[in-house]
Amino acid sequence: MLTEKKTRLGIISALAEEQEGLIHAMTDAVRHTHGMRDYTAGKLWNMDTVAVLSRIGKVAAAMTAVTLVEKFGVTHIVFTGVAGSADRAVQVGDVVIAESLVQHDMDASPLFPRFEVPLTGLSHLPSDLELGSRLAHAATTFLEGENGATLHRGLIGSGDQFIHDGVRLAALKSALPGLLAVEMEGAAVAQVCFELGIPFAVIRTISDNANESAATDFMHFVKTVASRYAFGIIERFCRQA
Ligand code: SAH
Repeated sequence: MLTEKKTRLGIISALAEEQEGLIHAMTDAVRHTHGMRDYTAGKLWNMDTVAVLSRIGKVAAAMTAVTLVEKFGVTHIVFTGVAGSADRAVQVGDVVIAESLVQHDMDASPLFPRFEVPLTGLSHLPSDLELGSRLAHAATTFLEGENGATLHRGLIGSGDQFIHDGVRLAALKSALPGLLAVEMEGAAVAQVCFELGIPFAVIRTISDNANESAATDFMHFVKTVASRYAFGIIERFCRQA
């Protein structure tokens, strides 16, 4: 699929650190500014790509995903970034690839079940299996060089909140069995891609434990590790396609 001639991959991250180095690695890069974001189109290891920073939160991510598809003609989207852990087995420095995503702050009950995105009939938005497997392969190869980091696949929750509170996290975990990580954009991209019929995947490196020390851990982690992981995994992903 990814080797088809017309494939054009959109690469979204929220923060600059999550995408550091990718723009420099691009050949034939052309930057377009639109709606307060820079979209850089070019070739990454021979793959036709458009890289962009979405800014933070669900609306920001949705706006960016729609623009990538409608204005820049991407055929696939990968979101790469960091997230808080929502499971004891998922440790800082591990990587999580979403099998499905939920908007954990969506609640139109009693009109619709809690978490269901109204009028889609879905609370758990599935990511593309093939893209997910390709990313998993790239991540596994990359992580072989990283001491003890583990790859997990499962449920990621997104909401317009930086979770830094053990009680709040515990409540989310009990409402959403199997929740592996929390972040602020993935499930918004998932909804856009579901509605537009665009295959997508979300990959997150764990930066913190979504508890009281999350803010400090997060700041330290994004600066030291996040960009190296994102670059290493995306490079392998583009090369193998
Ligand atoms: N301090 C940062 C803001 C970071 S918001 C700044 O000023 O730029 C946190 C970002 O990392 C979001 O994009 C979110 O997707 C992800 N994230 C990491 N840990 C998170 C957590 N515990 N809860 C929610 N989002 C988290």
